[in-house]
Amino acid sequence: MYQLIDGKELAKNIRQELKKENDKLKEKGINAKLAVILVGDDSASKVYIKNKSKACNDVGIEYEEILLDSNTTMEELLQVIENLNKRDDINGILLQSPIPNGLDIQKAFEKIDYRKDVDGFNPVNVGKLTIGQDGFIPCTPYGIIKMLESYNIPIEGKNAVVIGRSNIVGKPLSQCLLRKHATVTICHSRTKNIKDITKSADILISAVGKLNMVTSDMVKDGAVVIDVGMNRNENGKLAGDVDFENVKEKASYITPVPGGVGPMTIAMLMNNVIKATKLQNGIN
Ligand code: NAP
Repeated sequence: MYQLIDGKELAKNIRQELKKENDKLKEKGINAKLAVILVGDDSASKVYIKNKSKACNDVGIEYEEILLDSNTTMEELLQVIENLNKRDDINGILLQSPIPNGLDIQKAFEKIDYRKDVDGFNPVNVGKLTIGQDGFIPCTPYGIIKMLESYNIPIEGKNAVVIGRSNIVGKPLSQCLLRKHATVTICHSRTKNIKDITKSADILISAVGKLNMVTSDMVKDGAVVIDVGMNRNENGKLAGDVDFENVKEKASYITPVPGGVGPMTIAMLMNNVIKATKLQNGIN
């Protein structure tokens, strides 16, 4: 019998706790503020930033949107980031991906002051995560670790298999799991005999972006299955990477899509904004 990991409910509780923390900051005259940069008019990105602004509203974090058109040059984008870096009223900066072809997102991430880098994509924060120092952890991996911990799912000594090696999910998630003493295997598009590897997973996480990437024959009995994928199924509905209906029968714990990793990602963004605000104001 599987248990559903309710990311929506967990995220709501986290937001409530963060609101209390933020209220205390406000009593001290400190107003946490997030700036979000969107370049171009990607429709999915517009939905994502709307959800982020709604979460800011829930937690009482001030929110500023900087909308740049798709002809924006790299110099202009870097200048916008530089201006936000310099502003004392901005505590967190997020550059929504993807950005139009021809712009170098890595260069833009490098430009964001690492102390305001609430997405954790600046190389300073990537390095800190890798060597186990305190920094900003990317929101999706951070949210997944929080989910596992909230459900008292042991990580130490477990075989964790991550499918996907992107800089925003797969790689930082692998580092997070390693930090928690899991034995981590990363699979990707060139991995051979992926089923042989996933069958050994106590914790199996899919971050690919492909419907039915994970089928029940790939899952060990009693495995914990975390679905990061966000896809549209044949009916146009949001669906993950995991063949949920069949895989759930084998899993001990499983996340739904929607209502799993997605809401946790946004909750951890709020967490990182509050953390940045406290650090910038000398509060531990
Ligand atoms: P990405 O940059 O496209 O990376 C996808 C990864 O999947 C790559 O490492 C790729 O391997 C691997 N892959 C592709 N086909 C594969 C296959 N057949 N077998 C094994 N591995 C395969 O994507 P991403 O940004 O990490 O996002 C992944 C998914 O998570 C997307 O659906 C995205 O929308 C979703 N997502 C959700 C959240 C959330 O909050 N819920 C947050 C972020 C992302 P190669 O490296 O070899 O190409």
